[in-house]
Amino acid sequence: MFDNKERTNINELGEFGLISYLNKAVEITEPSTVKGIGDDAAVLDFSDSKTLISTDLLLEGIHFDLRYVPLKHLGYKAIQVNLSDIYAMNGTASQVTFSIGLSSKFPLEAVEEIYEGALIACKKYNVDLIGGDTSASVQGLVISVTSIGYAKTDKIAYRSGAKQGDLLCVSGDLGGAYVGLQLLEREKQVYLENPKIQPDLEGKDYIVERQLKPEARKDVIALFEEFGIQPNAMIDVSDGLASEIIHICEASNVGCKLYEEKIPIDPMTYDTAREFGLDPTICALNGGEDYELLFTIPQEQYDKVKNQLDITIIGYITEKNAGRDMISKSGNIHPIKAQGWNAFKENE
Ligand code: ADP
Ligand code: MG
Repeated sequence: MFDNKERTNINELGEFGLISYLNKAVEITEPSTVKGIGDDAAVLDFSDSKTLISTDLLLEGIHFDLRYVPLKHLGYKAIQVNLSDIYAMNGTASQVTFSIGLSSKFPLEAVEEIYEGALIACKKYNVDLIGGDTSASVQGLVISVTSIGYAKTDKIAYRSGAKQGDLLCVSGDLGGAYVGLQLLEREKQVYLENPKIQPDLEGKDYIVERQLKPEARKDVIALFEEFGIQPNAMIDVSDGLASEIIHICEASNVGCKLYEEKIPIDPMTYDTAREFGLDPTICALNGGEDYELLFTIPQEQYDKVKNQLDITIIGYITEKNAGRDMISKSGNIHPIKAQGWNAFKENE
């Protein structure tokens, strides 16, 4: 995997050597970080805000496939998917911890690549990497990221805050990461059958990037702040629109109407889905990993969102007994089902 590169066995360096390497690579810039790497625990100070914490575990073979995910992208994505959870609370992410389990096939250079990607993401999103843990693993690569952030009490957007009459909105566009994954999987099969054939991803940059290099929507949180938009409820779209809508409806004890024709789908996502014989709407509803924000706002805030190019109103919140329905392009009503993308499916 790392054949053409220098290989430094991690055993030569030892765990402390690795940590000291990491410590040198890491820069602390956030005012709320009192102490980062180097003691038994990091120390943070959020003075008058509430603290937000979220963790994700990423396992090789379950959540990522190193045959088409470059290590640098993996480090970058591991940070992004985690920050997304803090933004989904309408918070500001400020720190992360980054833990890795490494089997013997990974030399130091592999760790450097992972951290390179992770630190690029940290820098871009203004978060400090303040610690982690390092261990050998029997098989494969394990990454766990915890993200920490803060928000004023009255700004926090829970899944449970949606109210009847709220507008249902989503940022960006959906389904791209899933269709990008289909493309990467296809090219992997072609490669496995004939390693001489180079992957054909020509002209598909957008959806490949949606899969390999997602961007958490910090900018949408900034836009809320700028325009005085306060979501009643919010969640990030990690498992597909259908499953996230159901999470909001269940937590908030409400129903909803979703309009298929309003679901934002990029033309490249649409065309590529069609090439694969997939329904683009299904890709948006049940694909995963778009890391957009799904939220509800009171109708009075309509004027604040109606001209935002990156926000689409896709439906509205109803009372619970009205059900959770999608109105299709042809006007038929379908109950929304949470198929959800989930990592367990692959092992069944
Ligand atoms: P402990 O034995 O108390 O767990 P460690 O030797 O594991 O301590 O960690 C020492 C310091 O190095 C801590 O500040 C820890 O957060 C940091 N650290 C360890 N592993 C990593 C890692 N993979 N990435 C970033 N920081 C790390
Ligand atoms: Mg430790």
